[in-house]
Amino acid sequence: MNGQMMQQPLLISSLIVHAERHHGDREIVSRRVEGDIHRTTYRELAARSRRMAKALAALGVGMGDRVATLAWNGYRHMELYYAVSGSGAVLHTLNPRLHPDQLAYIVNHADDAVLCFDLTFLPLVAAVAPRLASVRHFVAMTDRAHLPADAAKIPNLLVYDELVDAQDDRFDWPVFDENTASSLCYTSGTTGNPKGVLYSHRSTVLHTYAGALPDALNCSSADAILPVVPMFHVNAWGLPYIGCMVGAKLVFPGPGLDGKSLYELFESEGVTLSAGVPTVWQGLLAHVEGHGLKFSTMKRTVIGGSACPPAMIRTFGDKYGVHVLHAWGMTEMSPLGTVCSFKAQHAALSQDERYEVMSKQGRAIYGVDMKVVDPQGREIPFGSEASGDLHVRGPWILSRYFKDEGGDPLEDGWFPTGDVARIDADGYMQITDRSKDVIKSGGEWIGSIDLENIAMAHPAVAMAACIAAKHPKWDERPLLVVVKKPGAELTKDELIAFYEGKIAKWWTPDDVVFVDAIPLGATGKMQKNKLRELFKDHRLPTA
Ligand code: AMP
Repeated sequence: MNGQMMQQPLLISSLIVHAERHHGDREIVSRRVEGDIHRTTYRELAARSRRMAKALAALGVGMGDRVATLAWNGYRHMELYYAVSGSGAVLHTLNPRLHPDQLAYIVNHADDAVLCFDLTFLPLVAAVAPRLASVRHFVAMTDRAHLPADAAKIPNLLVYDELVDAQDDRFDWPVFDENTASSLCYTSGTTGNPKGVLYSHRSTVLHTYAGALPDALNCSSADAILPVVPMFHVNAWGLPYIGCMVGAKLVFPGPGLDGKSLYELFESEGVTLSAGVPTVWQGLLAHVEGHGLKFSTMKRTVIGGSACPPAMIRTFGDKYGVHVLHAWGMTEMSPLGTVCSFKAQHAALSQDERYEVMSKQGRAIYGVDMKVVDPQGREIPFGSEASGDLHVRGPWILSRYFKDEGGDPLEDGWFPTGDVARIDADGYMQITDRSKDVIKSGGEWIGSIDLENIAMAHPAVAMAACIAAKHPKWDERPLLVVVKKPGAELTKDELIAFYEGKIAKWWTPDDVVFVDAIPLGATGKMQKNKLRELFKDHRLPTA
């Protein structure tokens, strides 16, 4: 017997329809590439999205066609999120920090028909345009008045605001199967070519519901949310969709990702919740600490994308009263998998014990199931001290890569994440490493993240990466690569002594090298493969 409820496909357009009808006056504030602060509302944004949807149709963009963006977080980018996906085309968010060769590869692989870009990226677009065979139209996301003279270098150039202004907003969002593709993100491709992950309307709407839950990102209409995480990094972790679902104020930082610009926006717009990778928060904390500032409205920040050092969680909590929500996910997971929020029993814990819980990546949000397995593929029970390969499944986790690149990625219906983790008796998952970053010493594994977290707790350390260095006896031993805080004094012996009593003695790094900077990838993660290459001939003092 079937249930007798309405059949309504879960479509991304329903989110903007809801926001317009029920939160029409709620503000969307953007720092623009043009240099000013721009203000709009969900009502205006919805109308402009409909106009843009008509403009795309006039350009011949149909169901399933790919429309790429090369843009910061801002209202025009958000309009495209709805205009493109809402009309049945596929929004392909490109990461402008990628090497131009990789960018050209991705655009060609995706067969992007239109490429919309912020003026910041005009030189990049001009350089790669001749190699982008599939792109029929380039759209500068600005108005005519701000178009620089060298824009003429780009063929078939259109101006975004002119496209919007040429249409009226009388447009009904089409209704189609909820399994229709909605958006496309490529993995960062640290090894080999990047692979595409193709989200659907259904997976996106379900991810939005789950992401907003109190034990997930805990978003409501009362919030003012500033996603620092870029809209080109797994859809800003879903926040442009969550904003519409709950009617939160959205604040977009545009190109202003330095500590000063972010701080100003947090304060002037009354931001209550933010989200980003640890490296961004380092810049912000350095600015706030350096100028003796406080956050007057910010209550919570989501930190993920790479492990959040426990020292950062404490600094946010103890010094600034900002609660860190440690989260884990990946492009293949839309991206949310776990968020570290407390269970009822944690209320009785001391503050130190609570911080210990918060340093874990958290528990699965409903919709995601996870398990860790040993090298034979057998599940390791929750509560075991042993770590293993982390596998996940759920309705917003990929089943195949775009164009079937790489064949079937699943094992028994589960997606192997490539992360190594353990799960405690309460279901809290802790990543110990990426499987390719694990240090294999004498047949045993050493988790590099634990070693980095300890170094990061030293007051003189700004950034630390732990990599495997070759060792004649033990095969591999930990080598710590460290950036000191400006002006800080620290010797190798002092840092090694700092490990005493904090971990098993045999985990202690064998050597420390101080460097000016650690290479960061396109999404702000430390590029350990580059460091391994750089230090492949490093001679350990213990060797
Ligand atoms: P991406 O698909 O580029 O977002 O990268 C996903 C990968 O980033 C995951 O598989 C993890 O290795 C890493 N990652 C994401 N969040 C965390 C976190 N909170 N702690 C440790 N690693 C993380």
